[in-house]
Amino acid sequence: MATTPDRTAVPGDLDVLVVGAGFSGLYSVYRLRELGFRVHGIDAGEDVGGVWYWNRYPGARCDIESVDYCYSFSDELVREWDWTERYPAQPEILRYINFVADKFELREDFTFGTRVDSVTWDEEDRRWHVTTDRGDDITVSHVIMATGQLAVPQLPDIPGIEDFEGRTLHTGAWPHEGVDVTDERVGVIGTGSSGVQVIPQLAKQAGHLTVLQRTAHFVMPAENHPLDREYAEDLKTRFEEYREIARHHPGGTHRKFGTSSALEVSDEELRASFDAYWDRGGPDVLAAYTDLRTDERAAERVGELVREKIRGIVHDPATAERLCPRGYPFGSKRLVLEIDYYTTYNRDNVDLVDVGADPIERIAPNGVVLRSGTEIELDTLVFATGFDALTGALFSANITGVGGLTLPDAWKDGPRTYLGVATHGFPNLYFVAGAGSPSVISNVLISIEQHVEWITDHIAWLRDHDLDRSEATEEAQDEWTHHVYETAAPTLFMKGNSWYLGANVPGKPRVFSLYLGGVGRYREVCDEVAARDYAGFATT
Ligand code: FAD
Repeated sequence: MATTPDRTAVPGDLDVLVVGAGFSGLYSVYRLRELGFRVHGIDAGEDVGGVWYWNRYPGARCDIESVDYCYSFSDELVREWDWTERYPAQPEILRYINFVADKFELREDFTFGTRVDSVTWDEEDRRWHVTTDRGDDITVSHVIMATGQLAVPQLPDIPGIEDFEGRTLHTGAWPHEGVDVTDERVGVIGTGSSGVQVIPQLAKQAGHLTVLQRTAHFVMPAENHPLDREYAEDLKTRFEEYREIARHHPGGTHRKFGTSSALEVSDEELRASFDAYWDRGGPDVLAAYTDLRTDERAAERVGELVREKIRGIVHDPATAERLCPRGYPFGSKRLVLEIDYYTTYNRDNVDLVDVGADPIERIAPNGVVLRSGTEIELDTLVFATGFDALTGALFSANITGVGGLTLPDAWKDGPRTYLGVATHGFPNLYFVAGAGSPSVISNVLISIEQHVEWITDHIAWLRDHDLDRSEATEEAQDEWTHHVYETAAPTLFMKGNSWYLGANVPGKPRVFSLYLGGVGRYREVCDEVAARDYAGFATT
């Protein structure tokens, strides 16, 4: 085992290895320790935080409200932590995660700066052999892949990226010391969640900012504001009750669901209701009508109201039209929240280039060349191009199961899981809040707590029953996977060409592998399985 003074050694005698030190990994280690297991965590980052450790770009922010995007497992923690904003920014979330790590002394059970590079099942030994890029060779009964949903930044497939002589940055791996682009010519590729957040911030500093947009996204105002202290303090006195509602809510939040069709209401009624959502800010409009997620005509009525707002904010009509999302239904991609996004296009130092119409041909040493021959000279090029979502981190960990089956082979046509937590052929291996579960369609913190509690209970149950091998059966997995895909099939998510579908990663199978049955329903199914002695798992 390679041990250096700056690194905690991975202990030799472990029951469970946790990969990842984000919200999932920290809670997994905390809970397993409470349950009396010898557990240790590993993360490629130098400290705790997961995505909030890596995504330090200016403007990075959560689009779930702070009072919901937090742990609930400790009353003391709830009482001691004060959120300051409605939607917390990355530095505050990272401070929160550090507060949790300090409070529960979790860092001592983690090895940082270490990447797991292979995870191989030994059937004879009934254990996993795990190696790292720091020379560790670990033998362990159970592995929890708390590797997140968005841990592997994705670059676009454009020739010449490596030829660029200026500075290149990816929002998902932003330099910790920050970046000064004062007076520079900056280009941003990507106008999804991260792009919409980073663009207004870069525009304030850059000499000139060129936004290279292929697809315009539907964006609603965040209407972020300081959190009202009285409200936050009152919530603390009834937090468990408040959280219990979210645990059984379809999205793991407190969003109210409308009961009528968007096709039934008059233009005036629709507009009045939409305006109220717009003024209040946030993504709740998605639940305003029963059919926004299933009927293109319903989605289009709301989509057109977003376009009207854009035309009302952006002064230059041609730019406004370019910013109007078209070609896919409202709500079929992640709804993006903005702070100062549309008004940024009224600045003199910002240009919007439609690379859907005139695609980027290549990246040259001094900038970007479009198909028309237009050259855009740049000092800094920012990729806000998202992630190899859900499977990226799992595949790059080189997981090999029973009989030498690799995870990429097992999932070559898309993820196949039982309840999202396990997959056939890979015993004693668990996934947290990934494919096959509500994951990024939900308030992920709710999903993480539920998964971690379920997985750790399962491992404890095995121990208490003197069992050392648990594998999802193929039959249970087929049934669940079918259910996941069948639940998604009638929804407009299938028409979004989004990262949910893997569309941003060349060669990735186009499947919608997130469970859309709702967090509450999902929890019930998982609880039923546990109550039936983990039916669907072959345990020996
Ligand atoms: P992560 O935070 O992704 O942590 C995984 C960790 O695993 C990383 O630190 C990584 O370094 C480590 N790792 C991966 N592979 C290896 C390996 N082979 N070896 C060692 N370490 C490894 N969710 C919401 O619910 N609401 C939001 O508004 C929201 N906003 C987001 C905004 C951004 C910019 C991003 C990137 C994500 C956002 N998310 C949001 C999703 C977010 O991923 C989850 O909310 C949550 O933070 C995931 O926590 P995690 O611990 O499961 O995974």
